[in-house]
Amino acid sequence: MIEAFVFLVSAVVGSFLNVCIHRIPSGQSVAFPASHCPHCSTPIKPWDNLPILSYVILRGRCRQCETPISARYPLVEALTGIAGVATLTAFGPTPQALLLFAFLCALIVITFIDLDHQIIPDVISLPGILVGLSAAFVLGHPNWFDSALGILVGGGILWGIAEAYYRFTGREGMGGGDVKLLAMIGAFLGWRAIPVTLMIASLTGTVLGVALMLKRGEGRQLAIPFGPFLAAGAVVALFAGESLIDWYLNITRI
Ligand SMILES: [Zn+2]
Repeated sequence: MIEAFVFLVSAVVGSFLNVCIHRIPSGQSVAFPASHCPHCSTPIKPWDNLPILSYVILRGRCRQCETPISARYPLVEALTGIAGVATLTAFGPTPQALLLFAFLCALIVITFIDLDHQIIPDVISLPGILVGLSAAFVLGHPNWFDSALGILVGGGILWGIAEAYYRFTGREGMGGGDVKLLAMIGAFLGWRAIPVTLMIASLTGTVLGVALMLKRGEGRQLAIPFGPFLAAGAVVALFAGESLIDWYLNITRI
């Protein structure tokens, strides 16, 4: 019962994340004006703004102009709902769970903005670094030293890779946005989460990149945003990092 309630409340947060994804890249306010149809500008009635449910009831169309609504809206709401239930299940009703839910919300917004615009907004990652570090001081999980080291290791590794890539190829391979994102992940999860995050991100990124290239038959210039893969890596590190490391140590001990 409590899970269903947490899912619903989180999904409502998810509908706010949709607004963030939509408005942050163009520098619009996320608070005003109220949600409206991007096509006909009709304000959306509260009862047509219920997470996931309204999409189903309206059969994915605006009530006024019947323009199709992107399936991404209910998807983001469902993802946020799952994030809420997952953090509660893993960390119990604690301030830690609430903080990590906020962290996952930031990752969701970053993922979809990066997919759309190939940018990771500083207005999310930079305050994120600060929030992660401050929370480590207060909650001690990870402790502030692990968090500070996470910022340095996370940001440092990607900055180094980007710099080396640029020196060798003369091309910008990775954006500064990715550097700041991994620093933020390090701030929230501590430096120990960085190797797992990077490994999962590179693995999934490479597999998907190769699959896309094979499908489209394009050359090596295909630009794939790395942010969503870093976010996926962070989620794995958060929920399965410890067991992954144990598993790895076990199989290498043979
Ligand atoms: Zn409309």
